[in-house]
Amino acid sequence: MTAKKNLSSRVALYPGSFDPVHNGHVHIIRRAAKLFDRVIVAVAANPDKQPLFEIPERVELLREALADAGNVEVITFGGLTVDNAKRLGAGVIIRGLRLVSDFESELLLDMHNRRLEPGVETLYMMPEKEYICFNSSFVKQIVKLDSSRLSDYVPACVFKRLREKYPTGGASFPVSSR
Ligand code: ADP
Repeated sequence: MTAKKNLSSRVALYPGSFDPVHNGHVHIIRRAAKLFDRVIVAVAANPDKQPLFEIPERVELLREALADAGNVEVITFGGLTVDNAKRLGAGVIIRGLRLVSDFESELLLDMHNRRLEPGVETLYMMPEKEYICFNSSFVKQIVKLDSSRLSDYVPACVFKRLREKYPTGGASFPVSSR
């Protein structure tokens, strides 16, 4: 059994799939890093999603994208987010809220987390309007069509990796017979 640390409201845990990390995530992390002493970004496996990058590569890309942020750490975890928050001493979980469509699932998740571990609070952060439409699923779709169009969506290190992995995407258009 892992030793539990005291929960600190100065330590925040930001969990997600980050497959791959995009500029919407980075913006939230940088803002959170100004609010908390430590921000722990946790890459969690999501068995429901087909991965673009394996977890160690996602961690590496997050670390590279946030190399200049001194109070941000990147880890991986398995199991319940609240149990990991307790293990790490994080009193706050950060979640991003983009559209109303995020609200229902986040509300339910919050209720479960609160029931499972009342000592851990969740803080919701709204993106700047330019990042509202950013999500990893969109990056996954575009990369297979034309990876060169993703430079505005993801940090430079992720863009480079995506271009290596999908050099052409589907940029050569299929033509119809007429
Ligand atoms: P995605 O929804 O992009 O696949 P994740 O599953 O990795 O991202 O989500 C991790 C966290 O980041 C979630 O709390 C999610 O709401 C938040 N998030 C994702 N994209 C954005 C964005 N563009 N702006 C703000 N928060 C975001």
